Amino acid sequence: MAERLRVLVTDTIADSGLDILRSAGDVDLDYRPGLKDEALLQAVAQSDALITRSGTAVTPELVNAGSRLRIIGRAGVGLDNVDVDACTARGILVINAPTANIMSATEHTMAMLLALCRNIPEAHASVKRGEWTRSKFMGTELEKKTLGIIGFGRIGTRLSRRARGFDMHVIAYDPYVADGVFQQHSVERVQLDELLARADVITVHTPLTDETRGMLGPAEIAKMKQGVITLNIARGGIYDEQALADGLNSGKIAGAAVDVYTDEPPGAEHPLLKAKNIVLSPHIGANTIEAQDRVAVETSRMVIDALRGSIFVSAVNLPFEGDAEAAPFISLAERLGSFAAQVINGPVSRAEIELYGVEERLQKILSIAALKGLLSSHVGNVNFVNAEQIAQQRGIGIASSSNPNPRDYANLITFRASSQRDEVCVSGTLFSERSQRVVSVNSFRVEFKPEGHLLYIINKDVPGVVGKVGTLLGDFEINIAEYNLARTATGGKAMGIVTIDSAMRPDAVAALRLHPAVEEVKLVHL
Ligand code: NAD
Repeated sequence: MAERLRVLVTDTIADSGLDILRSAGDVDLDYRPGLKDEALLQAVAQSDALITRSGTAVTPELVNAGSRLRIIGRAGVGLDNVDVDACTARGILVINAPTANIMSATEHTMAMLLALCRNIPEAHASVKRGEWTRSKFMGTELEKKTLGIIGFGRIGTRLSRRARGFDMHVIAYDPYVADGVFQQHSVERVQLDELLARADVITVHTPLTDETRGMLGPAEIAKMKQGVITLNIARGGIYDEQALADGLNSGKIAGAAVDVYTDEPPGAEHPLLKAKNIVLSPHIGANTIEAQDRVAVETSRMVIDALRGSIFVSAVNLPFEGDAEAAPFISLAERLGSFAAQVINGPVSRAEIELYGVEERLQKILSIAALKGLLSSHVGNVNFVNAEQIAQQRGIGIASSSNPNPRDYANLITFRASSQRDEVCVSGTLFSERSQRVVSVNSFRVEFKPEGHLLYIINKDVPGVVGKVGTLLGDFEINIAEYNLARTATGGKAMGIVTIDSAMRPDAVAALRLHPAVEEVKLVHL
């Protein structure tokens, strides 16, 4: 008889998800929302999979109690309550449902925009108070207004369609998306400064990254039109919240709608709570019946698939722990993709992986891993299931090839990313299971470990550059762990890959760029 699979659910999830678990012939469902403490540990010990929302903390203690536990399903996006490292260490796959709420967040953006333009919250409250002051609530129309979208990904593109339905003119800024995507959505591609200057309504839909944190601060707000409307339904911290409040209070910004905050919930003294002309909601962009249904259905299906052996589930940790052959190559391919993404200039339009002396069966998964690495630097929630699809949606042409004969090294993975104006070709090899090395970048022969903080420098091959880099890093108190130098035979160019102990401040990078021999400096984090 086939082995029975026991799935423990410790938070309420939508019936649609429970129905899937109940009707799976090989699954025994243990539905016990609110289970805590010793009873929780005992139930976990008897389960093959655990499905939670945010109510159950998946701690190392819980993970260790789960001697049979193979899967954690987080019915939602956030993983604040799941110790992913503890799960990975025990070979437990962590699955989430990151994209089930895209449409809900898109519609919430429209809802907030319309509420703001027509003063709905204030008007509603005044009628409830028994007032009838129609002239107080003068609104604005959306028709013929220019909408500026910052971040043209899943939500940004969907929003553009809805805004065009309102006869808005849509412009967008996203340095990491190919031209074709803008054309496909009939949206005008612009640079950030142009968007800030032209848009009547500005809405941000990027992930929160080192680059986007505080990307809309006092200087950017100063460049916006007088009387602009701004929205943040993406992540708290993309706007400098004090600067946004100041812009509202001074009248520079006519209105703002915000769903997300740097600290949630925002404290009583938070500047946005007291700002003029603002519509606030408590991070409810994803809260719809449909999104909750989709989350429950997707998580339940994936947990069952994973228990039955599928690796193509939306996992946040490596789903190949058991495959000792594959895992180190997958990790290397992902790092090569990530390196290329952080070094290339312009949005990537083509990605190609070539394998030499690597088992052919790994061709597909290594291609996906490299794409995942390539995309993850700028796109949120990329995983092994959706990486290929996201790449295609972003106009990236994909190719892969596999050659059984080794080339220079016993095994070699070459990843090539191209944009309209640039190409990055990076190759790596595994000396041993744990010993990854990048061995070439474009025409430069190098040897460095693809991990941690790296400084990528292209310069004219003249004396003094290495010394200058060393002094400058010293001035900024950044310790150098390794300095890799390479130069081309022709062209008189040199490349430096400097492994540093900590991240570098933007002013330190800017100072390096000022050196006359330095042509390019990029910070890479792997
Ligand atoms: P996505 O990853 O599909 O798209 C993000 C886009 O931002 C990408 O196209 C990327 O190229 C672009 N980008 C990255 N860095 C950029 C930069 N510096 N400048 C301009 N563009 C940049 O993400 P998505 O699914 O569309 O989600 C967008 C945001 O919405 C995310 O922050 C997500 O967490 C948030 N979100 C919020 C809620 C909510 O409840 N309020 C719900 C769902 C999603």
